[in-house]
Amino acid sequence: MNAPQRIGPTVLGYPRVGPDRELKAALESFWAQRVDHAELLEVGRRLRTDAWQRMSEAGLASVPVNTFSHYDHVLDTAHLFGALPERHTALGGSELDTYFAAARGADDTPALEMTKWFDTNYHYLVPELSPDTRFTLHGTKPVDETREARGLGYRPRPVVLGPVTFLLLSKPSSDAPAGFSPLSLLDRLLPVYVDLLRALQEAGADVVQLDEPAFAADRSPAELDALRHTYQRLGSEVRRPGICVATYFGPPREALHVLARTPVEALAVDLVSDPDTVDALATEPALRDKEIVAGVVDGRNIWRTDVDTALGRVARLLGSADRVSVSTSCSLLHVPYDVERETALDPRVRSWLAFADQKVREVVLLDRALHEGRDAVDADLAAARAVVTDRTRATDLRDNTVRARLEALRPEDARRGDYAVRAAAQRDALRLPLMPTTTIGSFPQTQEVRRARADHRAGRVDADAYRQVMRDEVERVVRLQEEIGLDVLVHGEPERNDMVQYFAEQLGGFAATEHGWVQSYGSRCVRPPVLYGDVTRGGPMTVEWARYAQSLTTKPVKGMLTGPVTILAWSFVRDDQPLADTARQVALAIRDEVHDLESAGIRIIQVDEPALRELLPLRSDEHKAYLDWAVTAFRMATSGVAASTQIHTHLCYSEFGEVLPAIDALDADVTSIEAARSRMEVLDDLNDAGFSRAVGPGVYDIHSPRVPGAAEITDLLRTAVDAVPVERLWANPDCGLKTRGYPEVEPALRHLVTAAERIRADR
Ligand code: GLN
Ligand code: ZN
Repeated sequence: MNAPQRIGPTVLGYPRVGPDRELKAALESFWAQRVDHAELLEVGRRLRTDAWQRMSEAGLASVPVNTFSHYDHVLDTAHLFGALPERHTALGGSELDTYFAAARGADDTPALEMTKWFDTNYHYLVPELSPDTRFTLHGTKPVDETREARGLGYRPRPVVLGPVTFLLLSKPSSDAPAGFSPLSLLDRLLPVYVDLLRALQEAGADVVQLDEPAFAADRSPAELDALRHTYQRLGSEVRRPGICVATYFGPPREALHVLARTPVEALAVDLVSDPDTVDALATEPALRDKEIVAGVVDGRNIWRTDVDTALGRVARLLGSADRVSVSTSCSLLHVPYDVERETALDPRVRSWLAFADQKVREVVLLDRALHEGRDAVDADLAAARAVVTDRTRATDLRDNTVRARLEALRPEDARRGDYAVRAAAQRDALRLPLMPTTTIGSFPQTQEVRRARADHRAGRVDADAYRQVMRDEVERVVRLQEEIGLDVLVHGEPERNDMVQYFAEQLGGFAATEHGWVQSYGSRCVRPPVLYGDVTRGGPMTVEWARYAQSLTTKPVKGMLTGPVTILAWSFVRDDQPLADTARQVALAIRDEVHDLESAGIRIIQVDEPALRELLPLRSDEHKAYLDWAVTAFRMATSGVAASTQIHTHLCYSEFGEVLPAIDALDADVTSIEAARSRMEVLDDLNDAGFSRAVGPGVYDIHSPRVPGAAEITDLLRTAVDAVPVERLWANPDCGLKTRGYPEVEPALRHLVTAAERIRADR
């Protein structure tokens, strides 16, 4: 180890899908065998070298490398250490084929499981490890990219997932003995990190960033010991580059003090999610000979940084560490590339926003202000300040009517009457059969629907013609459901591009972007709306469609809305007021929509909250506050209706364990919940949580093209009947059907109806 050079202004990672989603196009062409390996690799090379160039031109001293990925960085790590499951490696083919087989599955070989990356909307692939796993330095990606960046004249800082987080994010493979913990493999893994560090140094890295975001969540003493042991061990190696350990998405708390006492050279810390971390750093004596990489620019939201607040934070650290560099709070993976391209945005709103490229410049500006003095960058600081002041003073972001209405709401407005009374009123009003059958809302989006939407957006088709195509589709979907024999129908959501964007486009206070794509997983990208002001509803958003569908049938049609928590979770939200306040505003808009649906004669209204679990804070001492406001927002949205109006909610995409009491507290009359893959286990969990209202456990896994047979669904329903009285059960798929095709959906729904009929016949 040479005397460490300051890392200097940097970012912890950069977007990788390309400004125009070039990676998505390349991947999809490759999978469809329209382009070969060489072409795909060339697109990847161009994307990363462009990224380094953009960052370096903007003034970054140290450029992160290995933050590009062909699919996912956790999968990259498992591949790097030769730890992909044998079911994928045994398939043969090239390295890239094995890699994509693990990512996406191949024929009968299932992919790795995919799950959310901490509390973000990015999904990673979960490595599967067992006592037999042997790690080797199998791949060369970080080493190659370091050499590549070095060759182009940059100062590369390879970014690799740290060993402890890698093991904590992994799960035991299905053949591992009960009780096996991947963390027990740590001592087998560390020598391979030692080899990697050496190889990275030889390739020209003077410092390596090891990411340990798992330590922004609660960790046991044993896990903290593993962290201590790891960095003692890696830090005591003689032939290695400098080590910078990064934590993000929350305060590292105890882990900070553990890491400070290991022989690593630098700690990168998120100072946005919890400003109090500044105090913890400033008073930690063991940092005196280290570098702090101070994450004061928000890496996951899109607002311009308040430079004075940020500088105040980093300046406090100058006395407590040997070196201080300015950085983002986390990787910029979670934000789009460049706000300057958003020419359709209101220029004033645009001026308040910073995407990746703008954030890189903020980091550089702040680092100069810190080290060269504010005077050296006076004009730039003044300009940055002016934008933030303009946003703070923007009175037109406020809507006093909305605020006054929220003030006037009383606690009882977020409470419905007694469930037994509601259930009786709904029984009389709806007259549904035992174990009613329904769907979660969306039906497959046909070519025709997609084409009509694209044509409408491009101005080739006018609003009336577009509406007509949608109405025809609604009619077709209603007729199909009647013919299949479902009990509670839906309109099918053909008019919705996305369950959040559809509402954001109609609500005041939201803006849509044109190019603001963010990777969700692999080739999938989303374009989160920007929630910048008070939320107002100009008028009904969904009533026309629900009313039309209801006019076609005597069966009840379920109105379909997205809940406040999910709308927040999948948007970039304002940071100038507590999330709870923003949630209340969204809830009020949904409440008005619920009211209008009810007035239009819709007797069942579903408010989806699939993201309820996603926003759960990483630290358990913050759970209660979050769940309180999340539940209140849902209840505000849904409590303004008559006892006879039936409120449904829907949850999916997650392990519900920690939020089961909150699901109960939502007080929905009917809760549909993903359950097919876990074979109805969630019902026992709901029972344990004291849940006593109606529930629709999903009996058709819509993530798979497989069509479940009637016997299989009947089995699942019988399992459900064993757990929950049949009077409280509904039969439905796991989630919406929009990602599937009719050839699968039609038979699956027929089997669902047959299965429910068999259960009724059992009685
Ligand atoms: N109603 C939505 C649909 O069916 C729900 C989607 C979801 O849960 N993600 O598409
Ligand atoms: Zn769902």
